[in-house]
Amino acid sequence: MTSARPPRRAVLVGALATLASGAAFAARAQADALTQAEFDDWVGAQRARALLAGVSADAWEAALQGLTPDPVVIARRASAAETNLTLADYVTRLLNGRGQKARAKLAATPQLAGVQARFGVPAGVLTAFWGMESDYGANIGDRDVLRATATHGAAGSGGADWSAEFLAGLKILQSGVVARARLIGSYAGALGQTQLMPTNYLKYGVDFDGDGRIDVWASAPDALASAASHLVGETGWKPGQSWLEEVALAPGFDLSKTEVEITALPPDRWQALGAPRASGAPWSAADRAATARLLLPSGIKGPAFLAFANYSAFEAYNPSMPYAVGVSLLSKFAAGEVAIRKPWPTDPALPRETRMAAQAGLARLGYYEGKIDGDMGRKSRAALRAWQLSAGVPRDGFLTAEQAAVLAR
Ligand code: CA
Repeated sequence: MTSARPPRRAVLVGALATLASGAAFAARAQADALTQAEFDDWVGAQRARALLAGVSADAWEAALQGLTPDPVVIARRASAAETNLTLADYVTRLLNGRGQKARAKLAATPQLAGVQARFGVPAGVLTAFWGMESDYGANIGDRDVLRATATHGAAGSGGADWSAEFLAGLKILQSGVVARARLIGSYAGALGQTQLMPTNYLKYGVDFDGDGRIDVWASAPDALASAASHLVGETGWKPGQSWLEEVALAPGFDLSKTEVEITALPPDRWQALGAPRASGAPWSAADRAATARLLLPSGIKGPAFLAFANYSAFEAYNPSMPYAVGVSLLSKFAAGEVAIRKPWPTDPALPRETRMAAQAGLARLGYYEGKIDGDMGRKSRAALRAWQLSAGVPRDGFLTAEQAAVLAR
């Protein structure tokens, strides 16, 4: 997927790490082969650009002397993301595992109200990202950022302009905000409690606690305000607008008239079509003036949602649907709301081979031209919906075992 969005967060903390599926892993095949000479060549090729950007020759020497490829970064690139959790399982675990702590953290962090007031990003949203990205500062990563970004650059990782991130890391160091040894981040080079990439730190970093330093590592207010500033500046967060809101589909809701994930309509139009807000609350004026797309992340049997433009902020952090839906719902729960009203379906996950066979079937039938990788991403879901329409089954873009069996024939 190509996108003008900022580099995605490539780290999900702790037990949830297995769902990470950022583009940063795309070039995993070449990773093992990275030699010191290749690494040195890549770093050397950045020198002229760094000096032009105002990094002194002495600072360059001091920052990079003896730097080697990071074996942890290489290992993480190679072991990306195999999981057999359904979206429903993932989101349920996320809410069970992190929901109460998110509520407690929100209540115990009075600065969140100030950040919300200044940037218009709700405290629940910031709390959810804070929890997901660093477990509220407990896990900000321990990789040397210059080493990590250079390793990605030299290894040809996708997902970011590693040259720009490496250079940004040097500039952060030169600013004096942290000592060389404290310029640490995730294995993707993301910094601090809300895991901003170095370029975004330079663009959007905020000194919210007013001590004169943008310290996203040790200062939660700085990290939260920087994340809010990034959400507003980079993903166009619209204050006052919803992000993901559950709707209650009327029995027999016709999925052939509008297309899941695609058709954008104002919420009043969705209500007229048989998709009223599940909570029964009225839509805000800001929501009524906007459009939203219908999402059925676990198919027609599961909860339905309207995704407003703000939902793209969650996808920008990580484009996988489990992450974006999960963190959206965690943010609501953190703010004291009900996460969902309709329960998730309990169908087991389909094995990867089954999903691959379904993709191959879709390709054979002319609906699909992408990779046969078992990953039911945006293109695969669109292909499935086209096939579902022709097959006369609900066009929800969610692969069932029965449909997979038909497609595999
Ligand atoms: Ca500060």
